[in-house]
Amino acid sequence: MEKRETHSIRALKGVGEQRAAKYQKLGIETVEDLLRHYPRSYEDWSVLTPLAEAVSDTVCCIQAEALSAPVSHYIRQGMTLYQFLAVDGAAKMKVTIFNNRFAADRIRAGHNYLFYGKVTVRGRTKEMSSPEIQPAEMGASIRPVYPQTEGLSTRMIEGAVRQAFSMWEDRLVDPLPEALRQEYALCHIRYALKNIHFPKSHEMLAVARRRLVFEELLVLQLGMAMLRNRGRNGHAPKLTVDQSDTFFSLLPFSPTKAQRRAVSDAVEDMRSGVPMSRLLQGDVGSGKTAVAAALCHTAAANGWQSALMAPTGILAEQHYQSLCELLQPVGIQVALLTGSTTAAQKRDLLEKLKEGTIQLVVGTHALLQESVEFHNLGLVITDEQHRFGVEQRAILASKGENAHVYVMSATPIPRTLALMIYGDLDISVLDELPPGRKPVATYAIDSGKRMRALGFIKKHLDEGYQAYIVCPLVEEGGSDLKAAQQYAQSLKQGLLRDYQIGLVHGRMKPSEKDKVMAGFFEGKIQLLVSTTVIEVGVNVPNAVIMMVENAERFGLSQLHQLRGRVGRGNVQSHCILVSDAQNQQAKRRMWIMSHSNDGFKIAEEDLKLRGPGDFFGQRQHGLPALKIADMNSDMAVLREAQEAAHAILKADPNLEEDSHQGLRREVKGLFDQVGEQGLN
Ligand code: ADP
Ligand code: MG
Repeated sequence: MEKRETHSIRALKGVGEQRAAKYQKLGIETVEDLLRHYPRSYEDWSVLTPLAEAVSDTVCCIQAEALSAPVSHYIRQGMTLYQFLAVDGAAKMKVTIFNNRFAADRIRAGHNYLFYGKVTVRGRTKEMSSPEIQPAEMGASIRPVYPQTEGLSTRMIEGAVRQAFSMWEDRLVDPLPEALRQEYALCHIRYALKNIHFPKSHEMLAVARRRLVFEELLVLQLGMAMLRNRGRNGHAPKLTVDQSDTFFSLLPFSPTKAQRRAVSDAVEDMRSGVPMSRLLQGDVGSGKTAVAAALCHTAAANGWQSALMAPTGILAEQHYQSLCELLQPVGIQVALLTGSTTAAQKRDLLEKLKEGTIQLVVGTHALLQESVEFHNLGLVITDEQHRFGVEQRAILASKGENAHVYVMSATPIPRTLALMIYGDLDISVLDELPPGRKPVATYAIDSGKRMRALGFIKKHLDEGYQAYIVCPLVEEGGSDLKAAQQYAQSLKQGLLRDYQIGLVHGRMKPSEKDKVMAGFFEGKIQLLVSTTVIEVGVNVPNAVIMMVENAERFGLSQLHQLRGRVGRGNVQSHCILVSDAQNQQAKRRMWIMSHSNDGFKIAEEDLKLRGPGDFFGQRQHGLPALKIADMNSDMAVLREAQEAAHAILKADPNLEEDSHQGLRREVKGLFDQVGEQGLN
C-alpha cells in the first residue's frame, strides 16, 4: 500500500530539534499529525461580557482600554507583579500580570485589549489575575485549547497550526469520497480542519466536529471489519447435526434458559452457511464455559475441530480440565497447548491436530503460532475476550476455512461500548445466573475493622472453605512485590499462622504462579494472597470469602470481576472491601458495590463515574485511541458511520476502488500507529 505523503514538523518556522522532540511527546511528527491534533476545548472569546455585568469567579472575555502602562512591583526574588487599570465604559478593573515582563511590555496606555480569564469582585473593585490578553483588533473569536506538554504551550501550538494551515491548506486531500460526503451531509476536510482549530462560530464548529467524528468512526469501523473478514469469503462450514440436547444431558446440572438460548443462537448461526461472528456476554458465574462446551461438542459431531483460546495459562488449564471431564467420556479428544507445554508433548499435539485426531484444543496465545495447523478447524472460541484483539482472533480463525467465531466476554460491557468495539457482531446475553446462587454479601469497612474481618476469614477457613485476599496495590513506582510479601508474612506470623497461605504476584514466572494456583485449586492452599487482579475467570467454588485491601484503587468493574471469584457455589459468600479513602467517588463506588450484584448495572455506573476513556484501559478494549469521537455523545454518528462502513465494504471489500484510496490510507495509518499492541 502506498505510504501517505508526509512533511516533518520541522518544516515549520520555529520548530527545531528541541521543539520537535516536544511535539513528538504529543505524538506529532508531521505537519499532518499537527493538523490532526485537535483542540481539547475552546476559549470563547466570541462573546464579550460588559465589565459592569461580569459576575465574580466566572471566566469571561472583556474588552477594555488600558488606562496606563503596567506598573511593576518587586515582591521578592523571582516574583514581580505588573499592574494597571483597564476601563470599559464606567466600569474599571485592576489587571495583574505575574512575572511576565514580556506580556506587560506589550500593554500601552490608551489601547484596547481583550482580557480572557476569571473576574473576581471584591466590594466595588473588579480584578483579573493573569488573564490572557490580546489586542482588541484581533477580533472576537473562539480560540482553541490544545492538549499540551511541558515547554509547549497551547498558544505555541496554535501558532504552529496557523502556520501549517497557511502552508498546507491547498494540499489537503479529503479521504472521504465526495459521494459519501454528499450522502451524509459532511463538510470537506479543509473546512473541517480549519473550523475545528479556528471556528468562526459555534455552528461552524459543530459542522466541523461532526465530520471529523464521522471520519474517525468510519475509519475505525472499516479497519475492524477488514481485520475480521480477512481471508473470509462468506461461505462457512454448514452445521447439519445439532447435538446440544445430548450434551445438556451430560451436564451434572440442568442448563439455565439463558444458556439454552445462547447455544441455540449459535447453532442457528452455524447452520446458515455464513461464518458466525457472535459475542456471548455473561456476568461472572453465569456459566459461559458450559455454553462453549456445548458448541465444541456439536462441532465435533459435525466433524469439525474447535479451538478455545484463553488469555492466560491458568485459565486455559482450567478450561481444559472442565472440558476434558465433560467431553472425553463421549470420545472427544481434548488437548492443551500453553507456554509450558513441553517440546515433546507439543510435537505430538501438533501432529495430531493436523491429522485431525484431536477434536478440541484449548490454549493460550500459543495457539496463534504458525506451527499450529488444523485438519479441519470449524469453530474458534475466545474467552474473556476483551483481552484479545480483533487481529488475534482473526489469526486463529484463519487457521480454518471461514471458521465460525464465538467470543465470550466476562465483563459486561455497556451497550454503547459494545457497539463501538464489536460493531456488527451478533450478541447473545446470559442474563440469568444458575439457580441457587446467593448474591455475594458485600461490606465496605475501614482499616479499623480489619482484625475483625480477618477473624471472619479465619472462621471460614476453620469450616473448610477457602479465601482470597487481594492485597495492597502500591502506587506506581513503589514495590507491590515487597508490600505483598510483607503482607503475607505478617499474616503467617499473626492471626493466620496455622493456615496454608499462598502468594501470587505480578512478577512471578507463569510457571511459579501456575504452581501456587494449582495448590489453591486442589485445596492445599487455604488462603490466597494476591497482588495482581486474580485471573478473571478463575473458578474455585470452595472459595467463599474475599477481602480487598485499598479497594478504592480499583474501578467498579474491576471490583465486580474480583468479587466474581467468590459466590460460585451454593454457599453464602462474602466480599469485604477495605478502604480508608474519604473522597466522594471512592465512597460512591463502595456504596454501589455493597448494594448491587448486577454486572451490567455496575458497568453502567462505572462508565458514568469514570468516563468512557478510562473505562477499560485502551489496551484492554483493544481499540486505537479515539481523538475526537466521544462514546457518550456521538452514538448517532456512530450508527451512521457503521451503516456507511457496511455499504462501502459490501461494494468494495478491500477498498480497492480509486475513490476509496484515501480511506484505505487512513485505515492503514490508524492501525499502523497502534501496531499489533494496540490490537491486543
Ligand atoms: P463464567 O460465566 O464466569 O465463565 P463458569 O462457566 O465458570 O462461569 O461457571 C461458573 C460455575 O457455575 C461453574 O462451577 C459451573 O460448573 C457452574 N454452572 C454453570 N452452569 C450451571 C447451571 N446451569 N446450573 C448450575 N451450575 C452451573
Ligand atoms: Mg469463565
